[in-house]
Amino acid sequence: MKAPSFSYERAESVANAIELLARHGPDAQILAGGQSLMPMLNFRVARPAVLVDINPIADLAAIRVDKKGVFIGALARHADIEHSGEVAEQLPLVAAAMPQIAHPAIRNRGTFGGSCALGDPAAELPACCVALGAEFRIAGPKGERSVPAAKFFAGVYTTALEPGELLLGAQFPARQPGYVSRFLELTRRHGDYAMVGAAAHGRLDKGRLSDLKFVYFAVGDRPIMAMGLARAVEGKPLDAATIDAAVAALKDDLDPPGDLHASSVLKRHLAGVIARRMLNEYATHKGA
Ligand SMILES: Cc1cc2nc3c(=O)[nH]c(=O)nc-3n(C[C@H](O)[C@H](O)[C@H](O)COP(=O)(O)OP(=O)(O)OC[C@H]3O[C@@H](n4cnc5c(N)ncnc54)[C@H](O)[C@@H]3O)c2cc1C
Repeated sequence: MKAPSFSYERAESVANAIELLARHGPDAQILAGGQSLMPMLNFRVARPAVLVDINPIADLAAIRVDKKGVFIGALARHADIEHSGEVAEQLPLVAAAMPQIAHPAIRNRGTFGGSCALGDPAAELPACCVALGAEFRIAGPKGERSVPAAKFFAGVYTTALEPGELLLGAQFPARQPGYVSRFLELTRRHGDYAMVGAAAHGRLDKGRLSDLKFVYFAVGDRPIMAMGLARAVEGKPLDAATIDAAVAALKDDLDPPGDLHASSVLKRHLAGVIARRMLNEYATHKGA
């Protein structure tokens, strides 16, 4: 199908984008990489009267590293993040996730902000943001505000973004010594959305994990932090008994609905497989 007709506005700055969104109200929708929005228009799932194209706002594409950590701008393309040496060094969790997002053609256009603003519970980047404790920067008619990633994702395709607001990017805390990340997803074919996936970040010292953030995706309406799993491993030697207890704790952590990619029963099983593999990787981890 073809997209319904719409008007097109080019935003030249953040202020201009906010002004255009205010002028057109609920009829307007932001266009970033278009990798989700254009299919939604073509399938007529979305019917905005006006598209506000933010691609001309070059500042929004930056990836910046400073003492505070790493800021990834909303318009940074998936491919730019994937190939960034700074991201590889400072945010190895994000670097590990990037090649799992769709295919190169989609990663060349799709953006960090588009993926987070969409709020797809099966997406990789939201889970990484929650695991790493990122803060989203948002601009709107009342000025700028920050929202922690753990509060940003509010449900299926629902986020803390209010009408008329623009996601500017996310601030990730500086990399802390001793913290180790792991990422794993299970898909039917490489590039598909995950049947189940997880992003983990925690302090590893002499084979013991603490402050572990183990965040699943594609198992609920948003990224899901496995709190029981984290409690089961906190400060304990990562032996078979600890890992068994952590996997058993998932029974209360997760209640995954089935979707196109896997049934609820299969997702539960795969979540356990993922936990076991990732915790075994932590148990055998050597080096920084
Ligand atoms: C075949 C296929 C496979 C895919 N596989 C995966 C996958 O495995 N994992 C995955 O995570 N994604 C996947 N995607 C989605 C892809 O990552 C998209 O790029 C991403 O979800 C949306 O980013 P975008 O820049 O294209 O946003 P757009 O499509 O332009 O916009 C998406 C939505 O976000 C809003 N938006 C965009 N930017 C902002 C902003 N700065 N502030 C506020 N609102 C904004 C738009 O208004 C729109 O509602 C896939 C897409 C396709 C077509």
